[in-house]
Amino acid sequence: MLLSIVLPAYNEEQNISNTAKVLAGLLEENEIDYELVFISDGSRDATLELIRKAAEENPKVKGAEFSRNFGKEAAIFAGLELAAGDAVVVMDCDLQHPPETILEMWKLWRNGAEVVEGIKESRGKESLAYKLSAGLFYKIMSRLIKVDMSASSDFKLLDRKVVDVLLQLPERNTFFRALSFWAGFRREYVSYEVQERQYGKSKWSSLSLMKYAVTNATSFSTLPLQLVTVMGVVSILFSVALFIQTLAKYLSGTAVEGFTTVILLLLIIGGFLMLSLGIIGHYIARIYEEVKGRPKYIISKTVGKIEKRM
Ligand code: UDP
Ligand code: MG
Repeated sequence: MLLSIVLPAYNEEQNISNTAKVLAGLLEENEIDYELVFISDGSRDATLELIRKAAEENPKVKGAEFSRNFGKEAAIFAGLELAAGDAVVVMDCDLQHPPETILEMWKLWRNGAEVVEGIKESRGKESLAYKLSAGLFYKIMSRLIKVDMSASSDFKLLDRKVVDVLLQLPERNTFFRALSFWAGFRREYVSYEVQERQYGKSKWSSLSLMKYAVTNATSFSTLPLQLVTVMGVVSILFSVALFIQTLAKYLSGTAVEGFTTVILLLLIIGGFLMLSLGIIGHYIARIYEEVKGRPKYIISKTVGKIEKRM
């Protein structure tokens, strides 16, 4: 039974050696046959060289480098594709996901679980604004996809069957965290404490997080589009009321005033229209991206024995 560990890494030169050592030590101690799959997401530092060095020291390490930064989602999927294990764990390479949790996941998998979700016990050290926006995002997402994922993360173990299902999905815009719920299968949970990052700093800016939230929310739901319809209905109701009022005024011969109303109406309707166009435009952009059918990522270099599946 082979366990693959997929580790997306973007400018993580400070973490690779340490992470490889810690994981190898832990898994060897517990006599689990493993491989470590590092995916360097277009790093501009020495991440690839360090993966290479780790692979020289330990033949169970392999890896790949993207031709540019494609994002963590793409790195996760590349890792799933290159992993050969009967079970695959996805985790951050900064060890913020505690390695010991892998053992719990492994045990649950040996007992028949097909997906083991890592659930964040505490969110670690995050700013209040981040906590609030993340909380809101997960609340909306949970509503949309009808599973509670408020504490879920990208830290999870997937059975080979589940990995194959995810790899067969034709879509380009994936949301790994939610797709594992969407796929179904026998699910178990383990909770873990988010550790502090030891080396380097977080790779997310607030702008990239916001983009991440919007892209993922819209890739899983068409609710924003239905919102456009709701806005339309509200405007129609409003206009009926105003129509009657205007007509009544006209008939009673007092129709000259009302310039304020005209301006307000113009503003409201204009705002609604543009917002609606924006929402529709967003979906069209997503359709456009999918239709082009470009690959999720491009691999420029590989390290170690890589057999591409599919
Ligand atoms: N990561 C990546 N591509 C990116 C950004 C991040 O592969 O464009 C990786 C990063 O190297 C790390 C994981 O995703 O292994 C989580 O990133 P980070 O630790 O910066 O996020 P945080 O823990 O602060 O949420
Ligand atoms: Mg981190």
